[in-house]
Amino acid sequence: MTIDKPFNQFSKQEYLECIPNHQLYTEFNTLGLYRSLLENGNLSKDDKLEIRELSHYYFKKTFDFLQLKDPQTFFEVSTIGVELTKGDELNWWRIIRENQEKIIKEKKLNHRNFGSYAKHDCGIDYCPYNGLMIRQGSPLAETSMHFKKDRNKDVKMQKALRIKKESRDWKRRRNEEED
Ligand SMILES: [Zn+2]
Repeated sequence: MTIDKPFNQFSKQEYLECIPNHQLYTEFNTLGLYRSLLENGNLSKDDKLEIRELSHYYFKKTFDFLQLKDPQTFFEVSTIGVELTKGDELNWWRIIRENQEKIIKEKKLNHRNFGSYAKHDCGIDYCPYNGLMIRQGSPLAETSMHFKKDRNKDVKMQKALRIKKESRDWKRRRNEEED
């Protein structure tokens, strides 16, 4: 049996019928299922939480593996409907990082099947993803877009400092000229 439409167009009822019968389908994609919770416009927050719990009942192990395979989706699905402070977010990424190490150890992933992963290193000291293992080619590996907001803040601060220095220099020069 095949599923005749993408998960992200499912109604709540369709999820509830499909998930417990997942073995009947030939191309049931667990990652697609979890990801769809972030994209599906037919669901309320409570629907999403209910479907997530039902999914966890069947697929919790696969979901936990997403911490390594697709940490961004793991993070977003885990925090549906939760308001996070910056500290909460950092905490989440720390835990994900620790779990990644556990998964690597438990699965005894050797270098060969681990070659496509690399540690996130965008060069910013306080980046929450520092040290996180990221699959090559996945969004977190590609860019430091995730950091745009803070980077802008930095740019603004640097600009403010520069303007301050320039006006100081200018005042000093003027004073010297007057002398
Ligand atoms: Zn970064």
